[in-house]
Amino acid sequence: MRALRDLDGQTRVVGVIGWPVAHSLSPPMQNAALEEMGLNWVYVPFAVRPEWVAEALAAVRALGLVGINVTVPHKETVAQLVDQLEGSARVLGSVNTVCNREGTLVGLSTDGEGFLRALQEAGGSVSGKRVVLYGAGGAGRAVAYAVANHGAAQLWIVNRTLQRAESLAALVREQCGIRVSALQLGTEEAQRVTRQAEVVINSTSQGMHPHEDEPPIVAEEWLSEGQWVCDLVYNPRETALLQAARRRNARTLDGTGMLVHQGALALESWTGREVPIATMRKALHAALRAREQSRGH
Ligand code: NAP
Repeated sequence: MRALRDLDGQTRVVGVIGWPVAHSLSPPMQNAALEEMGLNWVYVPFAVRPEWVAEALAAVRALGLVGINVTVPHKETVAQLVDQLEGSARVLGSVNTVCNREGTLVGLSTDGEGFLRALQEAGGSVSGKRVVLYGAGGAGRAVAYAVANHGAAQLWIVNRTLQRAESLAALVREQCGIRVSALQLGTEEAQRVTRQAEVVINSTSQGMHPHEDEPPIVAEEWLSEGQWVCDLVYNPRETALLQAARRRNARTLDGTGMLVHQGALALESWTGREVPIATMRKALHAALRAREQSRGH
């Protein structure tokens, strides 16, 4: 991170808006990358109340910020307020990155692509695979669309609220034309497809701090050797689901890979340059470790 004395008349600002935003791990991760890239930029968290989102976006333009990340609960609101939507952001109606292109605010969604890059980096792929996705919230929607768009053979979406899974399945079917079904969490059918799937993804918040001691969303005995088991939860990194998957000799992917890559894609879109992934990952892991230590883990 740039020391205060290094800020000058040329310093450019990027940041993240959310409510709350204090939990965000993006500032340490992005500032480490900016420093490594030698940019006279600084990345700042902005706690923006829901009723002030339009003003916050106007400020991005008025103050000449390079761009912002958008986190919960503003992703859908921002999609309605930007000047243009690109790629999956248009389909999903959700934005996690805004680029200020000479006063035109362009909204992107890098979560789905971030997940795919993380899986690819770990040696996995969804291409030609049967995939089961637990969860149909914001992160689940981004991952479902990305998985379906990148050649998955079949997708099952399992959710506690069936109606949410059904409307996501309808969207994905219409956009990508692949075989996709919605299932109710806790049914025999959900168990059957999880046993069959080659890639199992948790996009629910089950297992996230402070609920890390709850049983995983998927029973351990449904998992098997050779499957990929991916958890989007990154706090803690080592979730009960991933521990269960490892005991079954499945291959695992924790949520930090997606977090790094969605951030890297945002930074790429702002800078037009290659970004230092290893530096971002190191800073993220250090920030997470510090957080876990501070609560006595
Ligand atoms: P969200 O929009 O609130 O969606 C939450 C999802 O979890 C819904 O499908 C919800 O089901 C389900 N759920 C919540 N509690 C549950 C429970 N006790 N049992 C079963 N299902 C439950 O949240 P989100 O933004 O998608 O985030 C979900 C998780 O992904 C969080 O842990 C978040 O930290 C993580 N995430 C990670 C990344 C990354 O980069 N790694 C990025 C974004 C999010 P209903 O529809 O029935 O309510």
